[in-house]
Formats: sequence, structure tokens, C-alpha cells
Amino acid sequence: MTCNFFKVLVGRVTKLVKFREILEGREEEPDEGRHYHNGISPSERYARYVELVNETPGMTVPYDVNFRKDMKRFESQLSSGKFFANNNKTGERGIFVKQFGLRGWQGLNLYQRRRHSPKDCVGCSNIHDYVDVMSKKLDESQPKVSEGVALVEELFTAVKLSGFD
Ligand SMILES: [Zn+2]
Repeated sequence: MTCNFFKVLVGRVTKLVKFREILEGREEEPDEGRHYHNGISPSERYARYVELVNETPGMTVPYDVNFRKDMKRFESQLSSGKFFANNNKTGERGIFVKQFGLRGWQGLNLYQRRRHSPKDCVGCSNIHDYVDVMSKKLDESQPKVSEGVALVEELFTAVKLSGFD
């Protein structure tokens, strides 16, 4: 499957108005549209993507027609609720975008990040990797174990049912 981080980093994170501030932790990552800017050129967005994956050679892609196509495709798919579980009626798209956005990516350690690659992603096809992704968040809030398992299952359902690849 196509990597979920690849989809969100390319389709959304690279068009953040405050990309630099958020990358450096000076601003929170937003979850709604007005924080994204359509006027950022494709080559600038590619430069941003390269910066995001500079420690993970397996996530590198060339700046070519495929990258520009993916960028447009992910962007429109992430703008629509219909590609997500339950037609996004209970916020599945938000869960997805937040989990696989900039903070989600930064929250992984290097070993975890290196399990991801744009196509046929090992990290995204393995539920144990989702548990890892969630565990950082769980540590912070310390919920009961049963709540943690429910959260992971909810996320996994949202991701598995996102209908684009
Ligand atoms: Zn992945």
C-alpha cells in the first residue's frame, strides 16, 4: 500500500503556510484548511518534502511528473470525506491527517521512520507499527490499557478503510 505518511506529508504538510514555524516546534500543527496555501510552487513543496525525509533515504522520491501527480491526487483525496471510513461522519479523516501529519512523523524514532517507504510500505501494512505510533500518545495521557487498545483499533479501522491508494 501507498505510505500514509507519504500521502499526508506530500498532500498537506508541504503546503502549510507556517511550515517552518511548525517544523521547528514554534507553532502547533493545525487541522483545518485555512492554514494551507495553494500558492506554494511544486518545486518549493518538493524541497520541503526532501527536508522532512532527509534522514530516511527510503522515503526519497525524484522530483518528476509522478511526484507532481501524487501531490495533486493526495491533495484532492485528503480534501474529501468520501475516501474515509463511514464517509468521515465521525471524524475519520481528521484522525488520519493528524496521525500521519508532521507531528506524527516527528513522533517516530529513526528506526520507526525507516520502516516507511512511499510504495508498498512495510510500516503502514503492519498493525504493530500502528501500536508503536500510538504508544507515544498513550504515554502522555496514561489511559487504561483497554482504552489504548480501543484507540489503536479505531485508528487501524480508519486507515484500512481509507479508500485511496
Ligand atoms: Zn508508511
